[in-house]
Amino acid sequence: MKPDIHPTYFKAATITCACGAVLHTGSTVETMKTEICSQCHPFYTGKKKFIDATGRVDRFKKLSQKSAVKQAARLKATKAKAATETPEAEIKKEKKTAKEAA
Ligand SMILES: [Zn+2]
Repeated sequence: MKPDIHPTYFKAATITCACGAVLHTGSTVETMKTEICSQCHPFYTGKKKFIDATGRVDRFKKLSQKSAVKQAARLKATKAKAATETPEAEIKKEKKTAKEAA
């Protein structure tokens, strides 16, 4: 090996995962931190899991919940409107449209 051009090699480097797993390996970096490893990756565990560092999934869930509530309220309002409209009112409406058409 040529002297003074190679980085320092650590024979006992440690890689720490967010799940708590610690791996020992050789590396030019003494310690590393990862978000995911083979101990917790869904591919290896077979479990469904969201890797969401910025909270986008939570934001989407909140948004969809909000819209579901709004949609339910809208449906309720239209149903209530339909219930309050009497057949007489509908007949009047029909007459009006008939006049407009004529
Ligand atoms: Zn892990």
